[in-house]
Amino acid sequence: MGMNGGDCDLKKIGAVIAAIAAVALIAFIAWDGIFNRTVTKDFFAMDTVVSVKVTGMKAEECTAEIEACVAELDSILTRHKPTSEISLINQNKGGTLSDKTAEYLRLLLDVSKKSGGAFDFTLGAVSDLWSFKSKPSVPDENKLAKAVSESGYKNVSLSGNTLTLQSGVIDFGAAGKGIALDEIRTILENAKTKEAVISVGGSVLIYGKSDAKVGIRDPYGNAGRSIATLTVSDICISTSGSYERYFEESGVTYHHILDPGTGYPVQNELISVTVVSQSGALSDALSTACFVLGIEEGAKLAKDYGCEAIFITKDKTVYATDGIIDKLEITDNSYILKAYEN
Ligand code: AMP
Ligand code: MG
Repeated sequence: MGMNGGDCDLKKIGAVIAAIAAVALIAFIAWDGIFNRTVTKDFFAMDTVVSVKVTGMKAEECTAEIEACVAELDSILTRHKPTSEISLINQNKGGTLSDKTAEYLRLLLDVSKKSGGAFDFTLGAVSDLWSFKSKPSVPDENKLAKAVSESGYKNVSLSGNTLTLQSGVIDFGAAGKGIALDEIRTILENAKTKEAVISVGGSVLIYGKSDAKVGIRDPYGNAGRSIATLTVSDICISTSGSYERYFEESGVTYHHILDPGTGYPVQNELISVTVVSQSGALSDALSTACFVLGIEEGAKLAKDYGCEAIFITKDKTVYATDGIIDKLEITDNSYILKAYEN
């Protein structure tokens, strides 16, 4: 009897412990579900695919806010909608910019100057002649020469928020996606997001994650294939490659990154450039600028801005600047890694 009673007590205690454990587990799962909610969403904006993965208590609201923010930024910076802020500036040859647009334009002017004009955000008319967005073809030589002669960042002056554009067509195409990442970062910070990975075309923001592994895209493969892994924390990474937009005509391949001096696609040893920076705007602008400049001048420019760069040549050599080389692992052994030393 006594033994049986003891058994019974033990069973009761066991049941109570099990019940407490179950309640604790449910509470933990619920708690974890609230605080570590992950939302993933892909949508199309800024002429590219935007992929959002947000983890945190406000993951859903945050994702909605990000989508609205990218759409709004696109409607300000695009030159393909006649009523956007940039379109109006282009039509009126200047005007008063909003604070944000002025701030970003100042950065583009700075990159244009520091790159000696290899980066030039006034090539809108030149880009349009190549029609990369619709049916690309090699433009008429005279039309191209005229558009090139009318473009040039030196035709732009910005005093406070007042912009004057003597000639040329302002185009944010080389930096808009990175600018979007900077705006998104502010949303993530305000929502106290735990972690996020956001990609806007070739620009990626790693937020709140330490030692995240980011693939460097195979320039000769499809979008999902990578040739190297970069281990990074809280950073923006942008890649510019001649494989992103191109067409073939009479056996010649033409791509979308243009030499501002000629209006023709840049011809050098490179097939892609990746720039790593705290700033999305800088990583995006510099990846384009470094592609135009080539390895030597490009690496110098990246260093000038305190950024790191990875250059991939057409013959599959990967050059990495000294601050990033230890974080880069080649995963495709047809590529050779070399340190780039200034
Ligand atoms: P990204 O993909 O960031 O390298 O940007 C490429 C886009 O930047 C092109 O589609 C053009 O709109 C624009 N672009 C092309 N060449 C240049 C250049 N030399 N400087 C600045 N923007 C450029
Ligand atoms: Mg760019």
